Amino acid sequence: MAGTRRRARASRSSTAVLPEYPLIALRETVLFPRTTTPLLIGRERLLLALEEAMDDKQMVVLVAYKDATEQEPTADQLHTIGTLVEVGRLLTLADGSSSLLATGVQRVKILEFVQHEPFHQVRVMPIFEPNDDSAATEALVRVVRGLFEDGAQLGGHVPDEVLTAAINADHAGALADVVASTLKLTIGQKQELLETLDPAARLQKVHVILAKEIKVMELEHKISDRVAEEMDKSQREYFLREQLRVIQNELGESGPYAGEYKELHDQLTQMQLPDEVRRRAEKELERLAQMPPASPEIGIIRTYLDWISELPWSQASEDSIDMPHVGRVLNKNHFALPRVKERIVEHIAVRKLALNEMRTPVLCFVGPPGTGKTSLGKSIAEALGRKFVRVSLGGIRDEAEVRGHRRTYIGAMPGRIIQTMRRAGTINPVFMLDEIDKIGADYRGDPSASLLEVLDPEQNFAFSDHYLDVPYDLSKVFFICTANWLDPIPWALHDRLEVIQFSGYTEHEKLRIAKSFLIDKQLKEHGLKKLAFSDAALRTLIREYTYEAGVRNLEREVANICRKVARRVAENRSAVKHVTPQLVTKFLGPPKYEFGVMEEEDQIGVAMGMAWTAGGGDTMPIEVTIMDGKGSMQLTGQLGDMTQESAHAALSYARSHAREIGIAANFDRMDIHVHFPEGAVPKDGPSAGVTLAIALISALLRRPVRRDVGMTGEITLRGRILPVGGLKEKALAAHRAGLKVLVVPHKNRKDLPEIPREVQRDVKLMFVKSMDEVLPIALVPEGHQPAQARKTTSRRERSLRRREAFRPAPDQPATQASP
Ligand code: ADP
Repeated sequence: MAGTRRRARASRSSTAVLPEYPLIALRETVLFPRTTTPLLIGRERLLLALEEAMDDKQMVVLVAYKDATEQEPTADQLHTIGTLVEVGRLLTLADGSSSLLATGVQRVKILEFVQHEPFHQVRVMPIFEPNDDSAATEALVRVVRGLFEDGAQLGGHVPDEVLTAAINADHAGALADVVASTLKLTIGQKQELLETLDPAARLQKVHVILAKEIKVMELEHKISDRVAEEMDKSQREYFLREQLRVIQNELGESGPYAGEYKELHDQLTQMQLPDEVRRRAEKELERLAQMPPASPEIGIIRTYLDWISELPWSQASEDSIDMPHVGRVLNKNHFALPRVKERIVEHIAVRKLALNEMRTPVLCFVGPPGTGKTSLGKSIAEALGRKFVRVSLGGIRDEAEVRGHRRTYIGAMPGRIIQTMRRAGTINPVFMLDEIDKIGADYRGDPSASLLEVLDPEQNFAFSDHYLDVPYDLSKVFFICTANWLDPIPWALHDRLEVIQFSGYTEHEKLRIAKSFLIDKQLKEHGLKKLAFSDAALRTLIREYTYEAGVRNLEREVANICRKVARRVAENRSAVKHVTPQLVTKFLGPPKYEFGVMEEEDQIGVAMGMAWTAGGGDTMPIEVTIMDGKGSMQLTGQLGDMTQESAHAALSYARSHAREIGIAANFDRMDIHVHFPEGAVPKDGPSAGVTLAIALISALLRRPVRRDVGMTGEITLRGRILPVGGLKEKALAAHRAGLKVLVVPHKNRKDLPEIPREVQRDVKLMFVKSMDEVLPIALVPEGHQPAQARKTTSRRERSLRRREAFRPAPDQPATQASP
């Protein structure tokens, strides 16, 4: 205890010899030794300290607050390292405050506060810097000095005397202090440098900050140089343009549309534009002429005016509605289709008579691909002497595709309707809107709603495209829509349409079409003169290389053969004159399809239904298996609700009529699995009811179904059979598949005239009212041996191929089969 007191006394006596000075504590000032700065002192305590200093050694100690937000810091809220400062040029100002010139003398460390009131008086220890004359330090000194001079030249606003002080600084510490006083530093950085007592370390820190500062200054210079350059350029351009204007004035070439816009102006003036469009075009031209040449809007306005000048506003083909001529043209280009042609001729006749009657409906051709819808449209145009254009609407979901984007969008364009009108070049073309059954709708608006405006004669004389923003008259256009399928067309649109149904062709019709049209067309396209296809070759093409309702693939295969022959001709090889079935196989490779898709043997639990798809008709087998179980039924093959309900109705029918039919099974002890093969194609619709019931009953009775019988019909719980749609397509498919009998609901008898005679000759249509009439037709008579082995591989193969054939083109949404 006594020892401690003694030590305290001893230390006090050793510090007592150290000097004392009044203290000036400032919020945000750090002064480096060897530098000078003016200070303004206003606070009472500091003024008293100054007074005391002036009376004594004219020296004070300057320290900074640790925390600048502090109002009245206590001793330990001040830094302990400060600067001993010589006070010079003290002036008392009118408001009582003082200004002085402070010159840093030396770093000091505050050891103790010897007095607090009325001002602080501190005892300090002066800090002497070691002399470091190592080569490394000398090198650093030179580098920093050089940099500092560079910086001063770059415009660092360094006063001359500071520059001189730096050049003359005799050691690292001095240089560091002088340079630091000129840098833009935070108070924290300054205090850190003040407290870095080792001169070399301090200079190192200063070097880093100085180098960065100079980089920034260089960048600043670069930026301002570039700005100056740009300004010079635009001033020069302005100057040249003014000169140009004066020269044009002198030459009498001036006017609002001089130079490059003159052409556009002349073109628009010569066109016959509706008044509103003309006013709009002139306004835009005026804006264009007044726009500064560098304005980005110039391109936008120019493109707009180009659209206006390129669209047909009044040019029309001369209409020649000569009815016999119309009939002749339709017949010249198309085989068969008598009812379709008749409807078209009638429609044109009505248009002719009721030219000013607004509400003539729009023609809509509905049917499988390749049945001549597009080519009939072209023939209508030919017959009327009009231009023909078409646009596909398949897959569009955005209203802007029909109606365009407003010009405020970057890259805005008119919609497909206006784009196609520009292509047409006349205001009255035959305009085919393809695939209106494949229009979607989502959050971007409903394209079918704007389509309605296009087709409605009461609105379409002033069709508004968002991009054009002026009404466009579509009332002279002869619109024709096409679709594969009627169901998806929105009702409001459907209501405006006069639907003409196209169905598939029979084999015989396909043969005639190929012989009379397709072959000639392809020969011409391939530059061939003499090439004959034998009937047998065409039949091979139809049966084994295509599987379709129309003739599109047939035409493609004919083209394939023509291409091969053309190549031989071009290569001067032996020319082919007759195409035979053997040549077909040689040119096109092994057959793609097997003709007829009948099972090879009568099967138990497998019945052949008929589907109606967007691609025409198709066969659709249904399989039923029965296992031990607990009375449940499983349905597979992507079935829609309606088909599932049909399956339950068929089961209920079989259960409730078990005794009459002769089913002895216990339904509670079995599980039934119903499967529609080709599971990737979604199926829906009620017309598989009869087929389902037959497959089920066959499985329950263990009696095979006749493999040459196809069936279609909806079934009620009591076993009555209701009519179905698409009978013609289904009958064509049955014919194509080589079936001999087709079971059809009695109520469909009205459709009989539509079924081609050729089909009726080969496929016997059996009209039935109830299930008990179907059983003897479809099931193999009792006592007949069921097939043991099934040739599953070949059926599976065929089914896969067929699926390929009906797979929708990649740009079409998947269609569904309607049993
Ligand atoms: P769709 O528009 O119905 O898909 P296309 O009109 O493109 O079918 O017809 C495909 C090809 O078949 C065309 O070359 C067309 O000329 C031809 N074609 C279709 N039906 C007939 C027909 N009845 N008579 C003559 N050629 C036909």
